[in-house]
Amino acid sequence: MPAKVTVMKFGGTSIEDQAAFERVAQIVASDKSERTVVVVSAMSRVTDALLSSLQMAAQGEIKTALDSIDEHLERHLQVASGLRASARADATLLIESVRREIGDLLNAVSFSRKPSARLQDNIASYGERLSACLLAAVLAERGLPASYVDARRCITTDEEHGKANPLPGLTTQRTCAALEPLLKAGRVPVMGGFIAATIRGVTTTLGRGSSDYTATLVSAALGASETQIWTDVNGVLTADPRLIKTARTVPLLSYGEAAELARFGAKVLHPKTIQPAAQHKIPVSIRNSRAPEKVGTLICARTEAAQGAVKAIAHQTGMTMVEVTSTPAFVANGFLHAIRRIAGRHQTALNIVATSEIGVSLASQETSALALIVDDLRQVGSVEVSSDRAIICCVGEGLQSAAGSASKIRSALRDVDSTLSWCSTSSNNFISVLDEAAVGTVISLLHHEIFENNAGIDERTDFRG
Ligand code: ADP
Ligand code: ASP
Ligand code: MG
Repeated sequence: MPAKVTVMKFGGTSIEDQAAFERVAQIVASDKSERTVVVVSAMSRVTDALLSSLQMAAQGEIKTALDSIDEHLERHLQVASGLRASARADATLLIESVRREIGDLLNAVSFSRKPSARLQDNIASYGERLSACLLAAVLAERGLPASYVDARRCITTDEEHGKANPLPGLTTQRTCAALEPLLKAGRVPVMGGFIAATIRGVTTTLGRGSSDYTATLVSAALGASETQIWTDVNGVLTADPRLIKTARTVPLLSYGEAAELARFGAKVLHPKTIQPAAQHKIPVSIRNSRAPEKVGTLICARTEAAQGAVKAIAHQTGMTMVEVTSTPAFVANGFLHAIRRIAGRHQTALNIVATSEIGVSLASQETSALALIVDDLRQVGSVEVSSDRAIICCVGEGLQSAAGSASKIRSALRDVDSTLSWCSTSSNNFISVLDEAAVGTVISLLHHEIFENNAGIDERTDFRG
C-alpha cells in the first residue's frame, strides 16, 4: 500500500516572526503521518510590501520603494539569526542576494515606469521563495530532514499573470516528479504556495491568498490522505471573527458548504481551495497554529448529521451589483449562457445573487474590467449598476430541502431586518444584498438570532467521527 501523505500549509501569520517559525517547526515535528509535505505562504505583509514597492518604483519613488523592502528583509534576517552558524550564513547570503535582485528589478521599473503583470508576479514570488527556504532551514535545525523545493518546478499554469490557472496534467506530473523522490527518501519537502510557472518557466502567481489552493493542488497531485491548513483562528468560524467576537468554530463542513463560504468572502479559505480536494475526496482540516491542541474544522464529503442548518455566515463588501433585465423568453433560453460567456471572456468572477423571470442580479468585487463587461452585457439586456454594496450569505447543506428549518430560518432572517429580501442560488445558501454600511449591524443581529438564539444551527456539534 502506498505511504500516506499529509500536506500541511502554513499561512503568513503562522510565520510572522522567529517565534512563529518555531511554533510551526514544533507542529511539523509532532506530525504522525508517514510522509509530510509543507506548503508555506510569505511572511505576513511581505506580498503586499513587494507589490506596493513595485508601484512606488514605477512612480519614481525608488528610495521609498527600496526602504520599504529593507524593513521586511530585516524580519527575514531576524529569523535567520536564530539558526546555527553555517545555516545562518547560507540564509544570510540568500537574503542578501534577494536584496540585490529586488533592487535591480525596482531600479529597472523606476526607469521604464511599466510595472507589467509579469513583473508583478516575479517580484511577488520572492516572498514565498524566501519563507520556504527559511522554514526548510528552521526545520532542518530541529532534526527534520527538510528540503526546499521551488514551487515553480511543480505548479504549472497558463500565462494569465496575477491569477494564473494551473494546467492539471502537467502540474500533477511535475509535482510528482519533484516531490516523490524526496518523500521516498524520507525527506520533508518545503515549498512556497501562491507561486507557479508557465510551461516555459516564466514565473506566475495563482491569485492573492492562493497558498491554500497550492496545498490542495499538491495534495491532489500526490493522492494525499489529508490537507491541513494552519492559520491564526480555530478553524472556519460561524462568521468573520473581525466582525463577530462571539463567532465559534464550525466542527464539520461539506466540500459544498466550504466552497460556498469561501466564494462569498470567508477569507480563511481561498475560493479555489476546495475544488481539487473535493474532486479527489481528500479531507481538508483548518487548524490554529497558535493553538494546535484545538481540533478546528474538518471539511469532507460527509455531513448528513447536520442537514438543513445554517453552519456559518459569510459576507463580502466592496461589491458592485449589476442587474441585467431582458425578456422572459430570452431569460428562459440562452440568457444565462450568454452572461457566463461574457464573464469568461473578461476572466471575471460574477456571482449570480438572484434570478427572476426577467433577469439576474450579478455581483462583482472587481472594478477594473467592469465598465467593459457592462458594455457587453448591454447586448443581452438592459443593465443597471450600483456600487458600495455587500452580500451576506448564510450557508448550510440542504437549507432549501429541510422544510422545517428553512421556514424557521426565513422567519429569523425576516425578524432581523424585514426590508431585506433573501434568495437562494443553490440548495446550500440564503443570500441577501444590502448597503455596505449596514453589514456590521445586520451580521451581528443574524449571528445572534441564528447561533445564539439557536434558530438555525444544529445543536449536534459533536458529530466528528
Ligand atoms: P492565512 O495567513 O493563514 O492564510 P488569512 O488571513 O488568509 O490567513 O485567513 C484567516 C483569517 O480569515 C482569519 O484571521 C479571519 O480574520 C478571517 N476570516 C474571515 N471569515 C472567517 C470565518 N468564517 N472563519 C474563520 N476566519 C475567517
Ligand atoms: N502570500 C500570498 C498573498 O499574500 C499568498 C498567500 O498568503 O496565500 O496573497
Ligand atoms: Mg489565507
